Amino acid sequence: MTFSDLGLTPETLRAIEDVGYNEPTPIQEQAIPYVLMCRDVLGIAQTGTGKTASFTLPMIDILAQGRAKARMPRSLILAPTRELASQVAENFKLYGKYHKLAMALLIGGESFKEQEAALDKGVDVLIATPGRLMDLFDRGRILLQDVKILVIDEADRMLDMGFIPDVERIVSFLPKIRQTLFFSATMDAQIRKLADAFLMNPKEIRV
Ligand code: AMP
Repeated sequence: MTFSDLGLTPETLRAIEDVGYNEPTPIQEQAIPYVLMCRDVLGIAQTGTGKTASFTLPMIDILAQGRAKARMPRSLILAPTRELASQVAENFKLYGKYHKLAMALLIGGESFKEQEAALDKGVDVLIATPGRLMDLFDRGRILLQDVKILVIDEADRMLDMGFIPDVERIVSFLPKIRQTLFFSATMDAQIRKLADAFLMNPKEIRV
């Protein structure tokens, strides 16, 4: 299987070629076609499997159509740590270089001013840690009713770090009709319950 078999746009295939990946990893091979069909995905995959590209690549192509309004992100990626959120942002930059997507990274320890200015301009891709997102949401700087795609990355770490109440609150403000991509390195009863609450008829992929 090659990347060009997966249904990605020529722009995204060119970006992949620039990075030098020869073939998709198993999670990419399995997840990308489903994400492109706007299906929900439950991915049970560790870091190092290429899971980040399995959602960033197809999201870039889905979001290439349309335009964001001020303060109304079109997609939301929640990650447990600043480092992970920053890595996801780097992925979007790298793979999205031939598309014109606006992105904002909302993480603690950085100035609110810049993050607010980015939100005001309109973002297609909003990447955030739950605490900082809630903070800006409570200040009225973000409206969540236009989010079409939600990604929960490393759900098991979110749970370990005590972020689930924040995540549940954020999800309660999102449209019920949306696409949700949920990733966790491990799967137990608690994670399964969360996945059941957030996902609709997901394609389950275990690598
Ligand atoms: P991740 O599991 O998302 O943290 O990715 C782990 C590493 O694999 C990252 O450094 C990526 O740049 C790299 N990677 C992702 N997809 C591929 C691929 N198809 N071929 C080679 N390397 C990849």
